[in-house]
Order: sequence, then C-alpha cells, then structure tokens
Amino acid sequence: MADHATAISAPNAAPVFAFEPHPTPFDTTERAKLLEDPGFGRVFTDHMATVRYSEARGWYDAKIEQRAPFQMDAASAVLHYAQEIFEGLKAYRLEDGGTALFRPEENAARFRRSAQRMAMAELPEEIFLASCRELVKTERDWIPTIDGGSLYLRPFMIASEVFLGVKPSTEYIYAVIASSAGNYFKSGTPAISLWVSEDYTRAAPGGTGAAKCGGNYATSLIAQAEAMKLGHDQVLLLDAVERRWIEELGGMNIFFVLDDGSLVTPPLGGTILPGITRDSLLILARDLGLTVREEPYAIDQCRTDAESGRLREAFACGTAAVITPIGHMASKSGAFTIGSGGPGQTTMKLRQSLVDIQRGAAPDPHGWLDRLD
Ligand SMILES: *Cc1c(COP(=O)(O)O)cnc(C)c1O
Repeated sequence: MADHATAISAPNAAPVFAFEPHPTPFDTTERAKLLEDPGFGRVFTDHMATVRYSEARGWYDAKIEQRAPFQMDAASAVLHYAQEIFEGLKAYRLEDGGTALFRPEENAARFRRSAQRMAMAELPEEIFLASCRELVKTERDWIPTIDGGSLYLRPFMIASEVFLGVKPSTEYIYAVIASSAGNYFKSGTPAISLWVSEDYTRAAPGGTGAAKCGGNYATSLIAQAEAMKLGHDQVLLLDAVERRWIEELGGMNIFFVLDDGSLVTPPLGGTILPGITRDSLLILARDLGLTVREEPYAIDQCRTDAESGRLREAFACGTAAVITPIGHMASKSGAFTIGSGGPGQTTMKLRQSLVDIQRGAAPDPHGWLDRLD
C-alpha cells in the first residue's frame, strides 16, 4: 500500500530525508585509524542515502540510513540488462573549517541526462542535491584532515523491477555512498604513461559514450587491463569510426599544451563523457589568459608534435585524481615522450588553480563551491 507520508510529491520543494542512524557506527578511534591512509575507494562511511522510485508512486522513501547490502531479487533488471548510471563528486574541507561540494548542480544535471539516455526515471535535481548535501552533513567527520583529503560521493541508480522482459524498468533504486579519499597518488603528482588502444574502442556515435553508465566502464576494462599488462598506467581510446582521433581515457578526459602556450582538448560530440573537471579547466584556462581550443586531435599528429617539440605537455583530468600529467605514450607503432616526460608547468599551474578553489584557498569567482556550513 502506498505510504503517502514518505512520497516526495513536489519535486521542486526541498525533499526531506528521514534519518535512521546506524546502530553501531565506527567509533572515533576506529575512524581515525581508517583515515590515516584511506587511499581511494576502499574506506566507506557508516551511512548512505537512498530513494526509491516506481512508476505508480514516483520518488519515495528518501532516507539517510546505515550503509548495508541491498536485498535484490535475482531477476532484478539491472543484473541482466545493465540499466545503471552513476556520478562522482567530492566534498572538501575548506581552509576556514567549512565544508563544500564542488559544482554538484553539474553532477545533478548530468545524472539526469545519463538517465534519459539509458531510458531510466529522471531523478529531479533537487533530490540529487539534497541526497548529497544530507549525506555529507551526516558524514562530515569522515573527510580526512590529511593533505589532499576529501570525501568522494558516489551517487548511482539501478533498475530494480523484477522482470526478464526486455524494456525499460518501471522501478529504480537511487543511492549515494561516501568514501574517504586521500591523495590519489601516494607521493606528489607523477606523470603517467598511456597505452593507445588500436584494438578496442569505448563509444560509437549513437552509443552511450556521453552517459555516465557502468556499461562504458565494462567495455573499457579489457583495454585498461592490456595497458597495465604492457607496463602502462592508463589506456587512451580513439574514435570508433576512423580509429584516428583521440577521445579520452577509460575514466578521464585529456588535454594537450602546445608550444605557443595554447590548450587543445577533443570536442564533445556524443562519444566523450562531458567531464566537469574538463569544463572547469576550460573556464580556468581562459581566466588565466590561455587560448583554449576544443578540436579534434589525431593520434599521428600527436606523435609528430611530441617528436618535433610542438607538443609540450599533456594531462588527464577527472574528479578522482583532479589532474594527472602524462609523460609517455605508446602504441603498436612504438613509444614517445611528451615534453620532459614529467609534469609540465602549465599542467601544474592549472592543477593548483583548481585545487585552490576547491579548498577555499583562492577566490571562487564562478560560484563553484556549494557550502554546507
Ligand atoms: C566521470 C568521467 C570523466 C570525468 O568526469 P568528471 O566530471 O571530471 O569527474 C571522464 N571520462 C569518463 C569516461 C568518465 O566516466
């Protein structure tokens, strides 16, 4: 029977998340131990946010509750047809002691677009924002105080209708879990090496490349595994049609710095994930007076430019690692070095500008911080 008390009927009103505290949360000492060296993606907080959806009831049962396994029927749609989307964003402790999310409205909007592409129910942006804000307020003490520490939020949604017919699910579970994160890299910001995959692609025109869905990752894992087996850190994927144009990494966008000081990044066009870090860097680079071009860049041109010295720096970007310098690239045709092979000046300057805004150490002219206290 429908429980009208918990239905979120007015999507524009700030939704109320019922709080059901964890009966046995980690105590302060246990938590401090976990936060000494949390790494990435392995230390989880006590609570999660959940909201349910059914076609009949709309969005209902919004809660902050104990993080716990889901009870799922083995015929739940997501387990068979992969209707799943996710997001990734971080809460930072600011220099003045406050807490803030970085551009969460962008994640909320992208989550909706991903849902649309995957024929899933579109979570109202107000509910997405409230779920993230409420969870961070509950789990604020899980933001590590170590340098570079943050609380990584992972909102996601799965198709939960119990039915094996092939069609969009009529029921969904939306949830947000939180994971304490240290500096993505143990020491400093090392330059990574990319393997250019010529055998595998990630996204084709008309496909799901611009949606943040687990399926995109599932298809890129074999290419990533190949890269690692060959001694590289990440895979670089080319366009699916000509296998010529640089698109992105398995989970990060890519930028190039040329010898005239300008920045180049592949244009969005349906096959590249529109990264919020990418967008922020385009804006910051222009603020810094750099010329920025969103234009196709061929892998052969990239190699020629690296060898001639026209290509000075390259970096990958995404929420998890912010900016990662790229020092080397290799494909079946051989390896080449970019610039000095180490972190470039422009790369590190952009990284610092972005990190300073995220930490509240520099002014926030674009209003990117969503302050929670
Ligand atoms: C999430 C993601 C990115 C980076 O997006 P951000 O919003 O900057 O974190 C880039 N590429 C892929 C494939 C992604 O899934």
